[in-house]
Amino acid sequence: MTRTLGVGVLGMGWMGQLHSASYQRLKYHYPDVNVEPRLVIAADPDEGRQQMAVDRLGFAESTANWKDVLSHPDVDVVSITTPNFLHREMAVATAEAGKPFWAEKPLGRYPSDVADVGEAVEQAGVITMVGFNYRYAPALQRARELIAEGALGEITHYRSTFIADYSSHPDGVLTWRFSFEQAGLGILGDLMSHAADMALYVLGPIERLTAQRAVFIPTRPKSSGDAESHFARAAEDAEHAPVENEDYVSALLHFAGGARGTIETSRVVVGPHVRYVVEAHGTEGAVAWNFERMNELRLYERRNQDAGYRTVYAEPGHGDFAHFQPAQGIGMSFDDLKVMEAHQFVSSVVSGEQLPGGVPDAVAMMQVISAMERSCESGVWEDVGEITPSMRMSVEGVA
Ligand code: NAD
Repeated sequence: MTRTLGVGVLGMGWMGQLHSASYQRLKYHYPDVNVEPRLVIAADPDEGRQQMAVDRLGFAESTANWKDVLSHPDVDVVSITTPNFLHREMAVATAEAGKPFWAEKPLGRYPSDVADVGEAVEQAGVITMVGFNYRYAPALQRARELIAEGALGEITHYRSTFIADYSSHPDGVLTWRFSFEQAGLGILGDLMSHAADMALYVLGPIERLTAQRAVFIPTRPKSSGDAESHFARAAEDAEHAPVENEDYVSALLHFAGGARGTIETSRVVVGPHVRYVVEAHGTEGAVAWNFERMNELRLYERRNQDAGYRTVYAEPGHGDFAHFQPAQGIGMSFDDLKVMEAHQFVSSVVSGEQLPGGVPDAVAMMQVISAMERSCESGVWEDVGEITPSMRMSVEGVA
């Protein structure tokens, strides 16, 4: 029997719209899930976005006050897709209200916020999912499977780059993302939260690391106060204010399994738009995946060494590819990854079993990021494990 699932969404920007659309696409891609999501209520202080939620996305109602969503009797699950400074308060309140939630990364401004969310979720025993969408790329799933099966031998090298140009223009508006109060961490909370999660997902625990950071664009034009996306640009004569968190972080990693690795993240690189590379090399082979060519995996097998790397196209049998496309060579998109994530969430809710990708994994990811923060300050290797309080960084000190 099909069960109706009442959905409430907090924050109707890019991610709020994508979560809403993903719930609606579930029935089409995963008919076996036997759930009929119903968009009940959307919250956003921006009136235009409230209206859009009803008119375009099909919500029954909307509100400026997110607490209306938690108290709504028809809301069974909640999506939290607001700016980072609201994640902790909203996630803790949703857990306390006993409602399962699907929240965007990084799940707080600082690692300590995420630790608080972890405690609240554990106490309430609610099912959760976090926006680690890149995990679900079928070609990446195939790479992970090859590593787990031992097809590449013992993994010795891991290398990841997540570099983007979304803030590379000096006229890019000083949105909430650049504010210590509103975003907390900069690229560490943004792209590094994906990249650190991926390193753990693909190769397992990281024992220790060392990291460095930089601010390459130290001031930006102030925001107009309207709901602006992080791609928004200001007029050249707009008044500037300081960027309060890091643009760039890179780290050296020592995995518990013995592999050594590197991760580099940036929001201000010029050239690549969204280059997200994950590469692993074992004693018998290697894999390389790049989000720019999401549906391809580059595979090298030592036994075929004269053939070099070959391209394996995502196909039915790789992750959930078959739920989206019938055959190799037909591409999937970023938005499809979010439908997979919605499915992971809703399947967890229906079964009552917490599947991978939830708040416990976000806490593990934040332990890595907390160690990166400490290392950026101390300049030396730091052990991963403990989440320590974040410090406001000195912008002058790091550029
Ligand atoms: P956005 O600025 O497009 O949208 C945020 C929305 O939240 C805006 O509409 C804003 O008006 C609304 N909002 C602000 N205060 C609110 C409140 N008190 N109650 C309800 N709504 C409120 O931002 P975005 O790009 O959608 O990012 C949102 C979150 O998603 C961030 O945490 C970001 O890190 C994450 N994100 C994840 C991915 C991914 O790939 N998983 C991609 C982009 C963003």
